[in-house]
Amino acid sequence: MDVTLVSALRDMLEPSSVAIFRCVGDAGQQRWVTRARLAAGDVVASADSLWADPDKLPRAEDHPKRLDCMHQRSVMQLRDGERWTTLFPLATDREVVGVLEITTTEKLKTSDQRTVGGILRIYHNFQGLLDYSERDTLTGLLNRKTFDESFLKAVGELPRAHEEAQTHADGDRRHEDGQPRYWIGVVDIDHFKSVNDRFGHLIGDEVLLLLSRLMRNSFRFHDLLYRFGGEEFVVLMRCEDESDAAHAFERLRHNTESYQFPQVGQITVSVGFTQVRVGDSPAMAFERADKAVYHAKANGRNQVQSHAVLVQSGQMTEVEQLSDMELF
Ligand code: GH3
Ligand code: MG
Ligand code: MG
Repeated sequence: MDVTLVSALRDMLEPSSVAIFRCVGDAGQQRWVTRARLAAGDVVASADSLWADPDKLPRAEDHPKRLDCMHQRSVMQLRDGERWTTLFPLATDREVVGVLEITTTEKLKTSDQRTVGGILRIYHNFQGLLDYSERDTLTGLLNRKTFDESFLKAVGELPRAHEEAQTHADGDRRHEDGQPRYWIGVVDIDHFKSVNDRFGHLIGDEVLLLLSRLMRNSFRFHDLLYRFGGEEFVVLMRCEDESDAAHAFERLRHNTESYQFPQVGQITVSVGFTQVRVGDSPAMAFERADKAVYHAKANGRNQVQSHAVLVQSGQMTEVEQLSDMELF
């Protein structure tokens, strides 16, 4: 949708460039992600990868005018020598998320600004519909329906060459610099039924909402977070190696254990995770992570278990390859 928007605006206004930038990351460490950008001669729009390394993206404070536009929620026009830059804030129903930046040689006319404003209202409404179909209404996390597509996209990026030669006993690939690695983690709240039984469903729902916030704060902005249903969450993350993934899940476990949930007090989570392998179906990877959660539950809960470690230490046997049909 971002690409469609910049293409339409370029055709209509013939600017020097038009781009959508999103401001992402935790407060104090925010970065600009280019969602779509078209300059005058470009045939196709450019964009940052979904998994762009945050450290390589421009810092939020490097473009203070964009930040001003977001904070003031108003259109801004700036002159820089021969060029004019017009910034429009981009908002969802919840918050301002970025800016639309149009660079022109002449000042953008008021009538053109109004036209862009109108198009942005349509864009905003479509974004709302998209969110409605892709996100869980309680937590705002992605819903289960969207998992398979993101998963297959991630697996599609895994290098196929030499995969046989570089296989661990557990089937996971060995370290190779620069190669993408994905991990999937299943997060399940411990004894959540008793939270509902003692405090009621409304308080239970609040716990789910607060846990989703802890998840957002525990992982990086480009990790994909899902509510799979009930009190079960899934994380699809990209990182260097097993210990990085383990640390991230451990951070969530620790943050949850240390958080005081209103009325309820302490809640804990059990986590199981596994590396995504070449040839994995979403169901197969999920099954491995889920088995690791099961192990965590059976061994005292409030812990993170790696499927690969469990297999290597002989505490678990390798999962048989199940077809998608059996699980989903
Ligand atoms: P375990 O530690 O083994 O995971 O125990 P548990 O009680 O968390 O697990 P179990 O699967 O037995 O229970 C999950 C409970 O989650 C059952 C249901 O009452 C509750 N639940 C599921 N979906 C929702 C929801 O959307 N809102 C609320 N408030 N509760 C939910
Ligand atoms: Mg549970
Ligand atoms: Mg459960």
